[in-house]
Formats: sequence, structure tokens, C-alpha cells
Amino acid sequence: KRVVPLPETTRVFTVANQKGGVGKTTTTVNLAAALARSGARVLVIDLDPQGNASTALGVEHRAETPSVYDALIRDEPMADLVQKSPEFDTLFCVPATIDLAGAEIELVPMVAREQRLRTSVDTYLQDSFDSGAAYHYVFIDCPPSLGLLTINAFVAAHEVLIPIQCEYYALEGLSQLLKNIQLIERHLNPSLAVSTILLTMYDGRTRLAFQVAEDVRSHFPDQTLTAVIPRSVRVSEAPSYGQTVISFDPNSPGALSYFEAAAEIADRGAPTDGN
Ligand code: ADP
Ligand code: MG
Repeated sequence: KRVVPLPETTRVFTVANQKGGVGKTTTTVNLAAALARSGARVLVIDLDPQGNASTALGVEHRAETPSVYDALIRDEPMADLVQKSPEFDTLFCVPATIDLAGAEIELVPMVAREQRLRTSVDTYLQDSFDSGAAYHYVFIDCPPSLGLLTINAFVAAHEVLIPIQCEYYALEGLSQLLKNIQLIERHLNPSLAVSTILLTMYDGRTRLAFQVAEDVRSHFPDQTLTAVIPRSVRVSEAPSYGQTVISFDPNSPGALSYFEAAAEIADRGAPTDGN
């Protein structure tokens, strides 16, 4: 739980993988909490209509709650939608409510439909900076698809963090994800880079998990973090208490490994131009 170096400008991450259940939300909230606990000012944007990140962070997201939907579709300022996490004073969340499920369709006819999140985030980050409360990190939690919500997240971010579950089909679908990210980079957001890959739900007792990890490392030696998140019951229990494992059980192996991953991300710093 050491203090980590803080970035000079805000690092905006999209946490994406079109597969469900690979640890996107768990990674988003626990890295965010670990960085907040280590002294950073952190914003989580919940961009999944399921609202799992909002639940895990213990913030309100009933149907009528002001949410990311209002920023995306109604042009409401993000400042009016942000809630402080009950766990950490420097951790904030823009929640997702169920109406976000319709946004994927509502965005289709809108002007600059791929840039709507970016416009909203950029304005809010600039205002936060101007008021002396600049964010160090933003994490956008994506739904398990490559639709317009995820595209909005890619356009709003500088870095992509891909969580990979250490199981047999881990690498399947990854090339499609990378191809999509390349298209975004070419046409919509030249400064996007896949900076970070995190191995999740690692079961050290199986040879398969070891092989998948080796495989991912050999394909992505520069992006894959040394820290690995073990499969751990405490990690999966925490959300039902509206908590991250960082505050639920800070000395559990899952929490410690998220602290390690967070420190590694902070130590490496933002990727330089040209990745
Ligand atoms: P995604 O957001 O990619 O759909 P989640 O983060 O929601 O994936 O994780 C899927 C499920 O696996 C959840 O029930 C979560 O609690 C559980 N889970 C995630 N990471 C771990 C872990 N390291 N150990 C045990 N369970 C985990
Ligand atoms: Mg999720």
C-alpha cells in the first residue's frame, strides 16, 4: 500500500474486452480504489447498462438517478452526475442506470455519435483541472460488446486496458478486439494505445492458467503486467457488500495483487507517442 507516483496529466483508460465475465468491472473498481487509496484522485465512468461498477462502488444507480446516460444523450454536464464513493474521499463515479441499455440505439442517428462521451469527459476534466481538483486517473468500464457505447469509450480514452481471464478461450476474440481498436486509432482517435494487459482469475494450481499466462506474455511482452490477479473468493464477495476488495479485505491476496497492479501502472507511466 505504498504511495504511488502521480501522473502530470490525467490518464484515461478504457477497460475493454467484448467477452463477458473476464474481470473488466472487478479490475476497473479495484484498480481505481487501489490508486485512490494510494493518494490519486480517480474517476470511474460506468458505461455498462448492468451498472455493476456502480454497485461495487456503493453509489446510487436506481432508474431515476442522474447517470452517464444524461451526459451521452441529454448533454448534461458530467459534474452534475458524479457521486463520491463512500469508501475513499478521492474516488468518484458516474453511475450507469438501466436506461443506458437504450442509448446504444438512441445514439445511432445522433451527430458525432462516436464522440459524445469524449466531449463530455474532456469538458469535465478541464473544469476539474481549472478548479484545482484535477483527476489523475479515469477508468471507463465497458459493456461486453463492441457497439457504440464501447466505441465512445475508445474515443474518450488514451489507453486501453484489457483484462484477460486465464482460461482456455482467453485469446479467442482478442484479435477482433485489437482490429477494432486499430480502426478507432486510424479513424477516430489517433492517440489511443493498448497500454496494459492484466491477467485475471489466475488459478495457480492449474497448468492451463500457467500456459495461458505464458502465451499472453509472449504475444504482448510490453503490455502485460507482471502482477497477476488470483482467483479469490474475497474478490467476488466484495460487490455484494457494495465495496471494493480494497476496503472490504485490504490484506487479502486479491486486494494485494490489485495494489501491485496499480503500482505497476503508476510506475510505468503513460505510454509515449507512437506507443
Ligand atoms: P466483466 O465485467 O468482464 O463481465 P466481472 O468483473 O463482473 O467481469 O467478473 C465476472 C465474475 O467473476 C464476477 O462475479 C466477479 O465477482 C468474479 N471475479 C472477477 N475477478 C475475480 C477474481 N479474481 N476471483 C474470483 N472471482 C472473480
Ligand atoms: Mg462488467
